[in-house]
Amino acid sequence: MVVVVVVASLALFALLAFGPFSIFYSNPLVTCRQAEQVPQLHFLASRRHRFPATKKGEESCLGDRPLEKDSNAITRGGNYFQSMSMASSSFSGSGNALMWFRKGLRIHDNPALECASRGVTGGGFLYPVFVIDPHYMEPDPRASSPGSSRAGLNRIRFLLESLKDLDLSLRKLGSRLLVMKGEPGEVLINCLKQWKVEKLCFEYDTDPYYQQLDMRVKDYASAARIEVFSPVSHTLFNPADIIQKNGGRPPVSYQSFLKLAGEPSWASSPLMTIFPSLPSVGDVGSSQIVEVPTLEELGYVDIEMELPPFRGGESEGLKRLREAISNEKWVATFEKPKGDPSAFLRPATTTLSPYLKFGCVSSRYFYQCIQDVYTRNKKHTSPPVSLLGQLLWRDFFYTVAFGTPNFDQMRGNKICKQIPWNDNDELLTAWREAKTGYPWIDAIMTQLHKWGWMHHLARHCVACFLTRGDLFVHWEKGRDVFERLLIDSDWAINSGNWMWLSCSSFFYQYNRIYSPISFGKKYDPNGNYIRHFLPILKDMPKEYIYEPWTAPLSVQTKAKCIIGKDYPKPMVSHDSASKDCKQKLAAAYELNKKLNGVVSEEDLKVLQRKLDATCDSVLNPVHSHSSSGAKRQRRS
Ligand SMILES: Cc1cc2nc3c(=O)[nH]c(=O)nc-3n(C[C@H](O)[C@H](O)[C@H](O)COP(=O)(O)OP(=O)(O)OC[C@H]3O[C@@H](n4cnc5c(N)ncnc54)[C@H](O)[C@@H]3O)c2cc1C
Repeated sequence: MVVVVVVASLALFALLAFGPFSIFYSNPLVTCRQAEQVPQLHFLASRRHRFPATKKGEESCLGDRPLEKDSNAITRGGNYFQSMSMASSSFSGSGNALMWFRKGLRIHDNPALECASRGVTGGGFLYPVFVIDPHYMEPDPRASSPGSSRAGLNRIRFLLESLKDLDLSLRKLGSRLLVMKGEPGEVLINCLKQWKVEKLCFEYDTDPYYQQLDMRVKDYASAARIEVFSPVSHTLFNPADIIQKNGGRPPVSYQSFLKLAGEPSWASSPLMTIFPSLPSVGDVGSSQIVEVPTLEELGYVDIEMELPPFRGGESEGLKRLREAISNEKWVATFEKPKGDPSAFLRPATTTLSPYLKFGCVSSRYFYQCIQDVYTRNKKHTSPPVSLLGQLLWRDFFYTVAFGTPNFDQMRGNKICKQIPWNDNDELLTAWREAKTGYPWIDAIMTQLHKWGWMHHLARHCVACFLTRGDLFVHWEKGRDVFERLLIDSDWAINSGNWMWLSCSSFFYQYNRIYSPISFGKKYDPNGNYIRHFLPILKDMPKEYIYEPWTAPLSVQTKAKCIIGKDYPKPMVSHDSASKDCKQKLAAAYELNKKLNGVVSEEDLKVLQRKLDATCDSVLNPVHSHSSSGAKRQRRS
């Protein structure tokens, strides 16, 4: 009898302590969970270690966090809207809520904001917060161009403009953006404490930086019994769902991704929330709140830079989206890679990537707008080349990146070929600083510096040139340059595309190399793009604009551009450099095949020594003309 009573008491205690009606951790979101969602919760909890593997002996799917505390997981179970209504109806409604903006800098289709605002009733307050991380924003005098160590000035400006726009929109709704400076985790935890926050809402983020930061904040929230709501709304799909559908592994081909993904669950649900107003902001106590700073206030003074044609913010992003979508014929017939990479006055694509990167425009709303056009225009292009297909490429890279340990590096990355790239800083610097001597390449790199955006095929050309096409420099180095300078710089998409272009993953036809001369000429024979971005060449006659080193001295003099003095000679001969690169890749592929992908650093060093002995064009910049150049010079 005594045993029965003791067992019953223990069972009751366990139910109260850890069950759905836990007295220790009251999370009504969790109590509403459907039974079939539980495996996903296990899956999610493992993010503390990179990614769950399904094979025996590898990392467990079960993380070390108590599942009940990850209310983030509520949105993972397919139907997001179902989760939302459960979430909002379950809030007790008397406490303060904090909406933590990071990306997702918008009001429309913002489920985290919606949840935060609905959760506040009965005298509670809503604190919309953005934390400026000085490492990301403040000037680094040692950086190779204006900006911080992590971001070029164009992206910093875009972010400030986006914050300003968000603040204005919030003010129109009776709220405002509370901008603070400092280490984001620390600042946020302080706010949670000071403002007696009961609900913390923020958009879920798969980038490793946020995974780590969020884990820390969620740990604190969980200990302080603060409800956390962190929905997936940066991407069309939840990468974890796709990976789970694929047995725990990310799909590594676009087609298999499409098959797994299918139609998003929200595809025909209304996404635009209309907020008549937002709950007011409460007393901020001793917290140091600032207005959205200007560039000057961040320390960027005396910098003369041309303004790129991208103003940050949701208002501008939605305007651009409307403009793009209103041309229904263009949307329905959109086909990549058709389209002119040299078109800069009126780019051939939507130029929405910076707005998607910061979440000023919701990719889900963009998706629905395209679908609407397709409904009215039954004859339209399809993935991978269609406009919808482009958004799906975005989700594809997010999914692979989320499920691949060490995705952003060659070593330890299972989907990446091991290739003995060189670490030649001289070559890298010349490429980065637009001094390769190939006007097409240098014009694209100048556009990167000036605008922080280039057409997709232009990115192809410079990435191929740096890596497998000509210079054989490590793709990670080029990726880092893009990461800092692009306004749309995106952790998953950038590394994914660099692996693609360097034939390290996804695409393996290393014999297909972009010519730094003829590719651009095909689109822009007069070289208008080069003339715009490299004004030193603006008077070079059309027949020499792509190969100015072949122009006779009299022509160079007349064009006021002496090659080797005013503009560099080509740093390598494309013909021989590309031949060497193909040879090196063939050897590296052979090695990867022989060793079944398990290539050690020593194996690569041995191969590198062998290749360096036979292929030397890359490491010895030529001062002679390329064969086509030499031919042209003989003619002139
Ligand atoms: C080496 C290299 C690095 C790149 N780095 C980035 C990056 O850091 N951030 C980034 O957003 N894009 C990157 N891209 C992909 C692509 O070039 C840009 O997304 C595109 O050029 C942006 O212009 P848009 O908005 O006019 O594109 P659109 O053609 O109008 O496409 C609409 C949206 O689809 C998505 N998209 C288009 N192409 C791709 C693609 N290949 N992969 C993934 N998503 C795509 C983007 O979000 C884009 O805004 C990179 C491409 C290369 C070759």
